[in-house]
Amino acid sequence: MENKTISRIGVLTSGGDAPGMNAAIRAVVRTCKYYNLESYGIYRGYEGMILNDIRKLETKDVAYILERGGTFLKSARSAEFRTTEGRKKAFDNLQKHNINALVVIGGDGSLTGAHLFFEEFGIPAVGLPGTIDNDLSGTDSTIGFDTACNTAIQAIDKIRDTASSHDRLFFVEVMGRDAGFIAINAGIGSGAAATLIPEKKMPVETLIERLKSRAKAKKQSNIVIVAEGGKSGGAMEISEKVRKILPGYDIKVTILGHLQRGGSPSSFDRLLASKLGVAAVEGLIQGKYDVMAGIINNKVVYTPIKRAIVDDKSVDEDDFRVAKILST
Ligand code: ATP
Repeated sequence: MENKTISRIGVLTSGGDAPGMNAAIRAVVRTCKYYNLESYGIYRGYEGMILNDIRKLETKDVAYILERGGTFLKSARSAEFRTTEGRKKAFDNLQKHNINALVVIGGDGSLTGAHLFFEEFGIPAVGLPGTIDNDLSGTDSTIGFDTACNTAIQAIDKIRDTASSHDRLFFVEVMGRDAGFIAINAGIGSGAAATLIPEKKMPVETLIERLKSRAKAKKQSNIVIVAEGGKSGGAMEISEKVRKILPGYDIKVTILGHLQRGGSPSSFDRLLASKLGVAAVEGLIQGKYDVMAGIINNKVVYTPIKRAIVDDKSVDEDDFRVAKILST
């Protein structure tokens, strides 16, 4: 269904920032230009919509941002947008600028906001999966996930140098409150001794057995990857339990934290963000509303936001099996 009413598209980034968000914004702005639509940048996510921090964007505004991490539109978490009054203020501001469609780049919370906004005020929105967590259905990968995995693996490589020089046991905590995608990729990609993810509980006894059998096999270094939301606790908590049982081990903990969010997006994330930016604008032109654009098997797919945010995406059982085989 072709929609003739869309003329001004507002674009915003919301929730946690992710590498590749800039590339997505650039693609939205350039695609708008291509189809003779106007694009408006909404600064600081929904907060900027409520505060009317909205400016027209030209292609020159998105020059030299493809390769930059973060988001030049800035991101925020807006408590006020969770209220009907807040969303009404936001709607009034969009009206002032005659913005009649939105591209929302963010995680499940941001897309939930876009869905509610569409239901309440009828503003057509296409969501783009912008989060390092990879926890959205309807896409094989989210924008920023690949870069975050690369960053984690590079950091773990460096930790391994010191771990093997001193026969240390390192616990490295990576991001992932509800999903262990970064952890499992980092675990396989860095040759970890074990990977603890929120989706699966690994009893401390199992971990101890794994470490003991690796000691027998004279493995030179031991790195255990822990997702921050792991069922067995964070890296600090688990390391303390292990220290009590294996007092002879020289145990260190590194929490990678926010460095996983930063940095120049990988080629994969640049491509993903660019393709999805184009898909978002084309989706709106074609009348695809209240959907998230994603890529599955190298094809653009539009999934109803309600389905994309359902909390049912978890680490592939096969990936978990591979990590286990390669760590024993
Ligand atoms: P990340 O995955 O990086 O945490 P996210 O988009 O899930 O990103 P949230 O903090 O959950 O991050 O959501 C971002 C913003 O989206 C919130 O600050 C709020 O403004 C809006 N939002 C989230 N959930 C809702 C909701 N249920 N109703 C309305 N707005 C919401």
